[in-house]
Amino acid sequence: MKFPFLDLRAVNAPYFTALKDAAISQIESGRYVGGPAVDRFNYLLAQSCDCRHAIGVSSGLDALRLIIEAYKRLGRLSEGDEVIVADNTYIASVLAISQAGLTPVLVDPDPLTACLSAEGIKRALMPRSRAVMLVDLYGRLNWDADIRELVMGSNLLVIEDAAQSIGARSPIEGIDGSRMAGAIGHAGALSFYPTKNIGALGDAGAVVTSDSDLAAAVKALANYGSNRRYHNIYKGFNCRLDPIQADFLSIKLADLERISASRRERAAAYSHSINSPLIKLPTPPRNPEQCVWHQYVVRLDAESRNRFMDFMSRNGVGTDIHYPTPVHRQPCYAAEYEGKQFPIADRLAAQSVSLPMGDNLSIADIEEISAIINQFQ
Ligand SMILES: *Cc1c(COP(=O)(O)O)cnc(C)c1O
Repeated sequence: MKFPFLDLRAVNAPYFTALKDAAISQIESGRYVGGPAVDRFNYLLAQSCDCRHAIGVSSGLDALRLIIEAYKRLGRLSEGDEVIVADNTYIASVLAISQAGLTPVLVDPDPLTACLSAEGIKRALMPRSRAVMLVDLYGRLNWDADIRELVMGSNLLVIEDAAQSIGARSPIEGIDGSRMAGAIGHAGALSFYPTKNIGALGDAGAVVTSDSDLAAAVKALANYGSNRRYHNIYKGFNCRLDPIQADFLSIKLADLERISASRRERAAAYSHSINSPLIKLPTPPRNPEQCVWHQYVVRLDAESRNRFMDFMSRNGVGTDIHYPTPVHRQPCYAAEYEGKQFPIADRLAAQSVSLPMGDNLSIADIEEISAIINQFQ
């Protein structure tokens, strides 16, 4: 395959020497949990997100779960409370809500952005609604003036699933003043899964917030519920970020602006070069900065989609689907949502195709892939 959908070796190649040096220094450090590497990364990440606190943790799912568990300990969420979330998200968003004992309320997304709209959120509001989880799907901030007005005029907690959007910047201020992905709501979760825009060499994630009480609760919960040695204020978890991953991430985080700019350029190159009437391009964000193109997702008629993916594969281009099965149809959730209709999520699942995207591809590569796409009929 000339253009695999994603080549993680190529993604990490520019950092090879720096990563190797960091690994050696971590092996030599004699300290393999916590310590200065994690503190340094937390500091750099909080700066990058323009907010007060960042807490590196074990994964994006754990980051989301820790936010909800911490709100429970602070008395701001309770078991059985409802959390509004888009049906077409990656399942981790919804699992975090369920695992913390709250009730996910799935909502059909806006067909143009694949994100939640203020209207969609409003329609889902019920007496037990306590929070909305905004998923920045494909790297696009799920934030606009209407959503801001709706949540600012309510008691809803806003939890941002920014697993795909690190580096995106909103033209509209977030709740606590930051405009950066992760820090738009009251609390945000980032993921550093290897395929994400900033990827660790293993699992990693972070919680980001300007709420000091929440940050302290998340930090303790992620470390057995301990706020000082052998003193456990919560029945906590072990969800810590490894220092070796923290060092890897500090190296890549320093390159975030360039990575985001590079992905925007590649998205623009696709949008400029693809001219097939069979392919529907993603709706460009109103402001280019509010999207970091974690995925570049086009749409085709459901009947042509699989044929298109086969055609691309035969021509040396890997593609993928994000996501082929909406949450309400997953075996583990189907019973809870039986009889409920999510026509837009179903349509997106049937029509979407993700194209290769990343800094390791040149603009010439994107043009070559686009030329192949334009030959599909
Ligand atoms: C990747 C991802 C997660 C989960 O992150 P992990 O680090 O893999 O646990 C959650 N939500 C979304 C939208 C994601 O893309």
